[in-house]
Amino acid sequence: MAANILIVEDEEPIQILLAYNFESEGYAVRSTANGEEAVRLASEEKPDLVVLDWMLPGMSGIEACRALRAKPETREIPIIMLTARGEESERVRGLATGADDYIVKPFSVPELLARVKTILRRSNPAAAAEELQAGDIVLNRRTRRVTRAKRDIGLSPTEFRLLEHLMGNAGRVYSRSQLLDAVWGRDNFVDERTVDVHVGRLRGQLKRGRETDPIRTVRGMGYSFNERFGR
Ligand code: CA
Repeated sequence: MAANILIVEDEEPIQILLAYNFESEGYAVRSTANGEEAVRLASEEKPDLVVLDWMLPGMSGIEACRALRAKPETREIPIIMLTARGEESERVRGLATGADDYIVKPFSVPELLARVKTILRRSNPAAAAEELQAGDIVLNRRTRRVTRAKRDIGLSPTEFRLLEHLMGNAGRVYSRSQLLDAVWGRDNFVDERTVDVHVGRLRGQLKRGRETDPIRTVRGMGYSFNERFGR
């Protein structure tokens, strides 16, 4: 997937609305209603961006933001805060605490998506790029088309997402269960062996008539896209 987004929002309809829209844009989404859990998830999973509601029960959004900025492993993760209308001082405080941007509720989803895209483009160009390229393989996120040496590679939607995820994070090794979460979604009931089947098919499609295999099997760990592929 393009990028991993952590949504922290206690109002369920908004949480669902956000998750739905981010997923439709091809992002991998994780949601929580709880500030403490958000900080824990962010340290464990290193999302590419956090959408953080200001008003949360228990640990507030602002406290969570501070906690994220205080930890070395989450310090660099961009944060967009959701604030209530008209709370100017809160907005200022939000930015002062280290949020990268804020958006006022009720917000427009396209505007939020646009802001997210802008921030990701700055912080993680590979995650926001329309096109991913490695050697002679080109993956276009908008047209959902993959070519190798200018020849079309036919992929199923799942294989496309799998390749997009691996290619967008070249060099990183993903376990089967991480790939299931990222490509099939968190609530999947898919067997881990399914990953092997799809990686096998993806490889077959990419390799047709060619020697070099861009996908590495890392024994005992999982799979990664070879960061030196095509170099
Ligand atoms: Ca709230």
